[in-house]
Parts: sequence; C-alpha cells; structure tokens
Amino acid sequence: MPPQEIHRDLELQLEVGNPVFSTTGGSSLSGEGMCVARHENFVYFVVGAVPGDLVTAKVFKVKKNYAEARAIRIERPSPLRTEPRCKHFGVCGGCKWQHADYDAQLRFKQQRVVDAFERIGGFSGFKVLPILGSEEIYFYRNKMEFSFSGQQWLLEKPARQLTQEVSDSPITNHSSPIFLGLHVPQRYDKILDIEECHLQSTISNEILNQTRSYAREHQLPVYSSETESGYLRFLMVRESKRTKEVMVNIVTYDERPDVMESYAAYMKHMIPQITTIVNTINPRKAQVAYGDKETVYLGPGFIRERIAEFIFNISAASFFQTNTAQAERLYEAASAAAELKPGDLVYDLYSGTGTIAMFISKSVREVVGVESSNSAIQDAERNADQNGVRNCIFIEGDLKEKLTKDTEWLQTHAKPDIVIADPPRSGMHPKVCEEIARLSPSRIVYVSCNPATQARDVKILCERNYRLMQIQPVDMFPHTYHVENIALLHRN
Ligand code: SAH
Repeated sequence: MPPQEIHRDLELQLEVGNPVFSTTGGSSLSGEGMCVARHENFVYFVVGAVPGDLVTAKVFKVKKNYAEARAIRIERPSPLRTEPRCKHFGVCGGCKWQHADYDAQLRFKQQRVVDAFERIGGFSGFKVLPILGSEEIYFYRNKMEFSFSGQQWLLEKPARQLTQEVSDSPITNHSSPIFLGLHVPQRYDKILDIEECHLQSTISNEILNQTRSYAREHQLPVYSSETESGYLRFLMVRESKRTKEVMVNIVTYDERPDVMESYAAYMKHMIPQITTIVNTINPRKAQVAYGDKETVYLGPGFIRERIAEFIFNISAASFFQTNTAQAERLYEAASAAAELKPGDLVYDLYSGTGTIAMFISKSVREVVGVESSNSAIQDAERNADQNGVRNCIFIEGDLKEKLTKDTEWLQTHAKPDIVIADPPRSGMHPKVCEEIARLSPSRIVYVSCNPATQARDVKILCERNYRLMQIQPVDMFPHTYHVENIALLHRN
C-alpha cells in the first residue's frame, strides 16, 4: 500500500530518471513512456519532465505500488531539455517528448528495445544496429485526424515547458461552441482546440483552421455520442510527402450533400493545393474516423504516395504507414536484413496494402502476402497491378486460421525461403509463431511497432529452431515514445 501521506494534490520534489516501459509483453503499463522517479522508497511516474530534471511535482493518481505526478515547476532543468516548437505542447496528446533533445529521444527508444529483448526475451549478446533516426523531426506525418467537439476544457494557453491540468468540467462560455483539434492525453472524451500542429504540414494547419471557421460561420452541429445527434465528427487530412497531393476527408454522422458541396467549394477556393475532398459517413456510436459510405466532392477520392519507385493510391479508408520517408528506410532495412536472392520465395505475413511485398518484389522470385483485411487485400492487388508488379499474390484470411486450419494455399506454394512478418501491436499468436518455425524458412525478419510483444514472440521462435542475430530499431514517430524494430532470426 502507498504510505498514507501520499495523496492526490501532494506536492513534492523529485529527481527524475529515465522513461519506463512495459516489461510484461503485451499488457500496457500505466505510465508508459513517463519518467520514473523514486522518493522515500515509493515510485512516481512523472508527466512533463525530462530525465535529469529536478522538479516540483503534484500527485494526481495514487495506486498500490506507484503514484502519477505532474511536473508543475522545474527546479533544475536537465541538460537534455530543449525548447518545444509547438505552442500546444504540454496539453496536447499528440507529442509527449518535444521538450527532450532528439538524440536523447533516440537513445531512450533504442534502450527500450534492448531492454525488452533482454528482460522479456531473456536474450543477451545479440547485435544492436544503431537506431535509424528520422531526418524530419517535425512535419513528418502524411495523415492526421482531428476531432470535432462541442465543448472545450481549457481557456488559458499552456506553458510551453510544462504540462497543464485540464479542468474536470467543460468551459461553456464560448459563443459558437465548435472546437477542432487533438485529444488531451489519456482522455478520449476531451479535445484540445488547436491552431497549429507540427506533425504534418503548414497546409494541414490551414485546412484545420479553415474548416473550423467554416463550421462556425455556418453553425454546423457537432456530433455528440451522448445524444447520438449532430453532424461533424472528424477531419482527416492526408498529404502525400512525395507527390504533394492533399486529401480532406470530413467524417460526419449523416449525409448532407448541400453542406458538403458548399464546404468543398469554399475549401478549394481558400486552399487550392487540396486535390480531393471526401465525406465519410459514420452513423454508428463508435468514435472512429471510418464509416459505411464515402462520397467524393472533389477530385479522384484518393491521393498518390511514392515509396521507392512504387506509387500507392491511398483512399480515405486505406491503411498506410504515416511517416513516408521512414517507412522507406524501414523497408530498406528489413530488405537488407533479409539478404534477398533472386530465386527466393518470400512470405509477407500481415501484408497490409502490400507495401513490403512490392518493395522487395524486384529482388526475389515471388512474394505471397497474407492479410486479414479485405480492403487492404484489394488495395494491395490494385497497387501491384498499377505498378506492373506481377510476382506478388495476396491471400485473405486470419493468419492463425491460414496456418493451422485453412491451409490449402500452403500446398500450392512451396515452403518459403524467407518470412517477413509485420503484425499489429499485439504481436503474433503463439500458434502462429510455432507454425512459422515449422515452415522452416532460413531467415525470419520480424518488423514490429511493439518491442514487448516482439521480444515475447522471438523468444518462442528461438525456443524452436531459430537464433536472434540482430535488431535494428527505427524511429518512425519523433516526439512520441513509439519505436519500430526489425529483428533478424536465422535458422539453426
Ligand atoms: N506490412 C504492412 C502492414 C502492417 S500493419 C505495412 O507496412 O504497411 C498490420 C496488418 O496486419 C494490418 O494490415 C492488419 O489488417 C493485419 N492483421 C491484423 N491481424 C491479423 C490477423 N490475425 N491475420 C492476418 N492479418 C492481420
């Protein structure tokens, strides 16, 4: 139990240490990515601090074994501190580490991966290639999703260096209550009205601000999940970093063609760089930016992005890696680790829209992609076709099913020389790991956005007939604690 004197609103001085991450392999730790501090034998996760800071912090949550606290005053700044560029930093949930030097961010991310492999996987003595940092640390995203809200929780501008407490009840003194922005951290019901975001581009900010102005001027109602009524739900902006095409996608609760036509005309007039405008209808309660129907009001309904020499059509609902430049480096590194040969048959598991399959298609004989999402399969087939790629095929289905029960496809294709797997955050089912080992490829390249589940799965593979050769962390998301990692395994 926490000592009695530790309670909400307690203020105390803390020497702040490194960020902490889950070491349980899967379940996420509360406080993930926050800095840890110890004081009188009790552990604190501190928000708004940089490792090496001495801060006065205020406790906002007390649990059995730890408390969470917010830095409210910096008593002695860490040498790793840097000036965040964004005026919303500290309140907005988009970036958590803008106040830490980028090289330090990279060191923490690399250490996070190494720790996961040592502690969860029980590995030692493996080769760690230095993390591939992002050349662009601002404006690196090709997609942003902003949420509409009829309420706001903050009036004052946040202090740049510190986090700010968000009020419990909404502030209701605004004459036209239409807000548009990003979530407050860990609060899916609270939206911070923002004027600028440094993650995508200046055009994206113009789209954000013009959309808000338009909505206010025309007093368009914001959707509320409480009353299940209203109209505006999300603004999604997709921008190709290579072709510069720009998509505006407004997600609404119902369809109002007159409104969308007038909005589209206004936006195209104000921001001529916009190449397509789409309206996605989501009539469900779930607050997601996807829906049942898409209507195109301007342009072709998709943008084109380029990775290596391949052009991908990305529509409103398509999955696509959000950092184009780093996605290319990730695929280059995965491809280098795989040491591909012209005669190789490669299985690309969790193939998504076929980006990895196509990226490696020229270096190998054939690629077989397996993916559960029907729309991703369709995108993958169309992408391959449009790029004249003839040696990739895509198979739809849940991977566990496809490897254990519905295995006919395995009979028609030879055993793979190489397996590349890029599963979602939850990692691979143990049965999938076993079946991959049974396929017995000479090399497995495991790409992951969650080192904890990756280390857990690699351990299973190494208990069979594989050994871990090297890891290559890649930073796709500067200013967040997320990290991508490529693990290379050789057959014994
Ligand atoms: N390699 C791709 C996409 C990786 S994202 C890229 O780099 O773009 C992970 C993919 O796994 C998603 O497309 C998701 O639809 C798919 N997926 C999730 N669970 C799955 C399962 N059980 N079986 C097959 N595919 C699955």
